[in-house]
Amino acid sequence: MKRKAIALLSGGLDSTLAANLMKQQGIEIVALSFVTPFCQCSGKGGCGSRATEVARSLGVELRVEALREEYLDVVRSPARGYGKNMNPCIDCRILMFSRARELMEREGASFVFTGEVLGERPMSQRRDSMRVIEKESGLEGRLLRPLSAGLLPPTEAEEKGIVDRSKLLSVSGRSRKPQMKLAQQMGVSDYPCPAGGCLLTDPAYARKVKDLVEHGELTMKNVNLLRAGRHYRLADGHKLVVGRNEGENKALESMAEPGDFVFSTLPIPGPVALLRGGGNGSLESSARICASHSDAKQEKRVPVNWRKASGGQEGVLDVSPLAPDELKAFRIE
Ligand code: SF4
Repeated sequence: MKRKAIALLSGGLDSTLAANLMKQQGIEIVALSFVTPFCQCSGKGGCGSRATEVARSLGVELRVEALREEYLDVVRSPARGYGKNMNPCIDCRILMFSRARELMEREGASFVFTGEVLGERPMSQRRDSMRVIEKESGLEGRLLRPLSAGLLPPTEAEEKGIVDRSKLLSVSGRSRKPQMKLAQQMGVSDYPCPAGGCLLTDPAYARKVKDLVEHGELTMKNVNLLRAGRHYRLADGHKLVVGRNEGENKALESMAEPGDFVFSTLPIPGPVALLRGGGNGSLESSARICASHSDAKQEKRVPVNWRKASGGQEGVLDVSPLAPDELKAFRIE
């Protein structure tokens, strides 16, 4: 057995500590980090760049893998269900750990290790879930959790003496105090994203994801749209997104796909609205919602411009804005 392992490294505190513990034992490490469509901190200073920083400070190679369509499949129908919101944590881990096993095999490494802590997360870090994840990802006996290893059965690497089990920890539960103490001892500081930065655990965001799943519309393009605007589901089942500021208005314009409709109340100050999947029958209701967010929302009638993103069709509809209660009935979040 080689003294080489794959580290699942998010750049958060736990995975950073686990990687430090393995480094102290002289294990050769290749780090693996994932970016999903629902990482809320993948930009500058976010998880992706944190993993890069941590890998650099440890002097280990980092591979970053983007999970896209296959990840959406998991979110659409997770075999082991969702957590509190739309987070399919067990199936998400099985997918990630299976990828880690594949890398382990390609690299000729002996095991995979993570920063998981027994009992820290209600769904994926229970003892029974951890066993299921290990089995389903094909890592039985080869998945080491250095922070909680003392509370778990020994892995092959421990049994064969590649890893010294006596130097591993027995941390459990949701308190992060033991990890913070260890971080201090190891000189590890600046560790953002304690919750992993996953938008699927955010209740308001999860409601919008659930709406997409229920309407069979969970695609990468529609997920990108979730980052901007107020979201409405029209009575005919189509989706309208209304910009909340200049930046979102511009973003919505740039995300318009052939077949989408774009609305504005110019020259009256107001939002840009994007109708996806709708036809001419959705124009009036979309225009009324758009007008309801304009500076003329108190007027009886408001002219709203519309255009189809492809094909050159355009026009103006004279509509009455909706009352706040009527508007609320269509709001997704
Ligand atoms: S919180 Fe999100 S990224 Fe983390 S395991 Fe759950 S679904 Fe996966």
